[in-house]
Parts: sequence; C-alpha cells; structure tokens
Amino acid sequence: MNSQLTGQCEPGADCNVCARLAAFRAENRESEPNWHNAPVPSFGDRNARVLIVGLAPGLKGANRTGRPFTGDYAGDLLYGTLLELGLAEGSYAARPDDGLALADCRITNAVRCVPPQNKPTPAEIGNCRPFLAATIGSMPRLKAILALGRIAHDSTVVALGGRKSAFPFSHGAMHDLTPDLVLFDSYHCSRYNTNTGVLTAQMFRAVLLELRRYVDGR
Ligand code: SF4
Repeated sequence: MNSQLTGQCEPGADCNVCARLAAFRAENRESEPNWHNAPVPSFGDRNARVLIVGLAPGLKGANRTGRPFTGDYAGDLLYGTLLELGLAEGSYAARPDDGLALADCRITNAVRCVPPQNKPTPAEIGNCRPFLAATIGSMPRLKAILALGRIAHDSTVVALGGRKSAFPFSHGAMHDLTPDLVLFDSYHCSRYNTNTGVLTAQMFRAVLLELRRYVDGR
C-alpha cells in the first residue's frame, strides 16, 4: 500500500507547507477575522462508501464557513443534487450549522487551503496530496470516488499510486483504480462551468446517479 494512505488526514490550522497559501491565509485573517481562514477539514463519516473530491476551498465559500462547498454556488448545485439522490439528509442553507448531514458520503478537497484566484500551483497540489491520500486510506468501506474536475482526478490517481496517463480525466468516465475502488469523473460544479454550459445540472445529476447505482449494486 502507498505509505501516504496511512498518514495524517487533517493538516493543522496553521499548516505552512505552502508558503504562498499560508501568506494568503494570513492576509485573509487580517481582513476577515470572523472567517474560518484555515485548511478546511473533510465533511462526513469515514465509514461512508462514497468520497467526493473537490479542488480547493472557495474564498467566500468553504474558506469563510469552514465546511467544504458551503456558502458558494458550487455548494448549491452539489448539495442540492446529493439531497435529491439520497446522499445527504436534512436541508442545505449554506451554513455549517444548517443541520445538513451526508448519507454514506464524505467530501474533501485536493488542496485544503484557499488559493488566490482559485488556482493552486502544481507544487501546492503535490504538497497537500498526503492529506488526500490519508483521507482515502482512512475510509475502510470506500467503494467509489467522484473527482470534480481534472486536478482532483489527477491528484486522486497519483495519491493511489496510479499513472495519470493510464487514467485520463473525462467527464462521465468510470475508472477501475484498484480492484475495490472506482473513480468517477465530473466537470467541477463551479458557477463558471455552469454559466459557460460546460456542465449542466442534468449532466451533474447523471454522473451522481450512475455512481449511486454502482455503489448500491444496481
Ligand atoms: S494546501 Fe495543504 S499542504 Fe499546503 S499549506 Fe494548506 S494544508 Fe498545508
């Protein structure tokens, strides 16, 4: 097994492995002292069979609220779809105290700190990969991962010791990453992708429905 799969899942609040991201965090703590402004932890139970991997916290979304995908447009689409397909329960109100619970599902990010302009560098993605690998390794019942976008896809493949060339990202694709673990791909559910028509709510729902059927053996 990849040794990173057994490491620490959550970075400390002041992790400074990425100097640029730590400096950006310090600026945000100064200007917005009431925001989360720290690495955003994974959300959901370790015993879930589904893991959703996003790119990184949005500045005014997860970086503000402290829960993945909470407080920005991407969260509206993601949580709305999860609720519709029974992978979440309760209601989503864009706040960490809205009572929403994930059902057999967990959400994490390939990069735990908000990057300027939503663009982490390749080095930053690599720096944060051990936390992604450990998160995957900490889930004993994991059956399917949904990667939101190419960066999340590639980092997941590498975290599991695979070659990117053997598993190219493609919206709607399913990859047998290991004998026990399938990787599904979707374009990221960002406002940019939906505004430009790269991803529609129907396309996103179709991928999650396929994943749901796979996990349930249907
Ligand atoms: S992105 Fe990850 S590795 Fe880099 S500073 Fe944040 S928590 Fe640490």
